[in-house]
Amino acid sequence: MEKYKVLIIGGGTAGITVAATLLRKQPKLKVAIIEPSDKHYYQPAWTLVGAGTYKFSDTERDEKDLIPKSVHWIRDYAEDIDPESNLVTLSHGEQIEFEALVVATGVQYNWNIIPGLEEGIGKHSITSNYDKKYATYTWESLKSFKGGNAVFTQPHTPIKCGGAPQKIMYLAEHYFRKNGKRENTNVIFATPGTVIFGVQPFKDALLKIVKDRNIHTFFFHKLVEIRPEQQEAVYEVTKPGHQPDVNDQINQKLGIRIESDGKVIIPFNFLHTAPPQSAPDFIKNSPLSKHDDPYGYVEVDKHTLQHSRYPNVFSLGDVAGTPNAKTGAAIRKQAPVVVANIIKFLEKGSLEDRYHGYSSCPIVTGYGKMLLAEFDYENKAAPSLPIDTSKPRWDMWILKKYLLPWFYWNRMLKGKG
Ligand SMILES: Cc1cc2nc3c(=O)[nH]c(=O)nc-3n(C[C@H](O)[C@H](O)[C@H](O)COP(=O)(O)OP(=O)(O)OC[C@H]3O[C@@H](n4cnc5c(N)ncnc54)[C@H](O)[C@@H]3O)c2cc1C
Repeated sequence: MEKYKVLIIGGGTAGITVAATLLRKQPKLKVAIIEPSDKHYYQPAWTLVGAGTYKFSDTERDEKDLIPKSVHWIRDYAEDIDPESNLVTLSHGEQIEFEALVVATGVQYNWNIIPGLEEGIGKHSITSNYDKKYATYTWESLKSFKGGNAVFTQPHTPIKCGGAPQKIMYLAEHYFRKNGKRENTNVIFATPGTVIFGVQPFKDALLKIVKDRNIHTFFFHKLVEIRPEQQEAVYEVTKPGHQPDVNDQINQKLGIRIESDGKVIIPFNFLHTAPPQSAPDFIKNSPLSKHDDPYGYVEVDKHTLQHSRYPNVFSLGDVAGTPNAKTGAAIRKQAPVVVANIIKFLEKGSLEDRYHGYSSCPIVTGYGKMLLAEFDYENKAAPSLPIDTSKPRWDMWILKKYLLPWFYWNRMLKGKG
């Protein structure tokens, strides 16, 4: 049986960044990555793909060119983890032994949790930039959109890049204006969330945009069903008093109605959503997941990123059960902490490095405009640039469209970021 000093599950943003950073510090370490896919994606640009301003093919690279040369690539799915025996079982049945394990599998999309979503996605102008199959369909649907209700929504589960459902809304609204479609379009944001954004001063900036651009918002609206053929989104209102008034003139114009069981129906001519998300099933069913977490994320200390019960297991990125916003920007700060702490662990020293919850959300507010929200575990603004990024700016758009992708491929994934 093959044994590795460090075994990484997942060759996405987190797995590759950790591998590259680790080998820069310890070039002779015996490291392997388990990753079934031969392609790697820069997912943050899928928002721009959906808005027709980025080529999908530019978000895709060969995994073989990204996995550091001295790392052994195990091209298979991990199917089972036994942290008591330090073993990972692959889908072909083979077992791999590890001294330290890094769990970096990202999330699993559970389309089937919302009835109608799995059947409808990719048809009837129902789309999602969250999936590589549909980001281009978003753009096709926007181009063929002839007016009516453009609805932007999201599921009740935590999602990666929580700002992405809004980013495409602001881009679409701008696109409608530029192309003479805005007059006969209602732009609607319906969310189970309670606020437009949880961190000040970005919340105020976004509320202003929503008001100035006449975007209709519905908070406390939990998406429970999609009726693809009828083009209807069905919601449960999670807080009394937040049910829309169907006698209100604006709601009548939007065609909103309430069924006898209290469910709110919002008709759409275009619908963008995000899939419900959780840890992959094999993680959820493993001893590594948090006992009280319905989504099964990996139980790690939120500062050291070391597992709370299995000290030779670390986790970062979207699958880690840490209360930060799940983004690539968070991984950029988590990876050096995981690497430093693994090295300390292997040397039997005490773990000293800490992650403080940094995450960032580049909120594109139109073609050529973006604000950059940076914050930490306390939801306090944590700016890294010496400029005010809380208002939409052109230079932040340049950052999003050109600088960050360059930085990702050339610095972060090479362990230089
Ligand atoms: C539309 C959209 C917009 C976004 N915008 C931004 C943004 O503007 N800024 C930002 O910072 N972040 C953004 N993100 C989030 C960012 O892309 C993710 O947070 C990041 O890619 C997560 O990295 P990860 O390594 O945890 O997971 P991933 O990059 O998803 O990688 C997980 C890897 O694990 C592999 N894997 C899964 N299961 C197994 C298994 N059983 N065995 C072995 N391997 C397995 C997968 O094949 C995959 O390669 C966005 C995401 C989306 C979808």
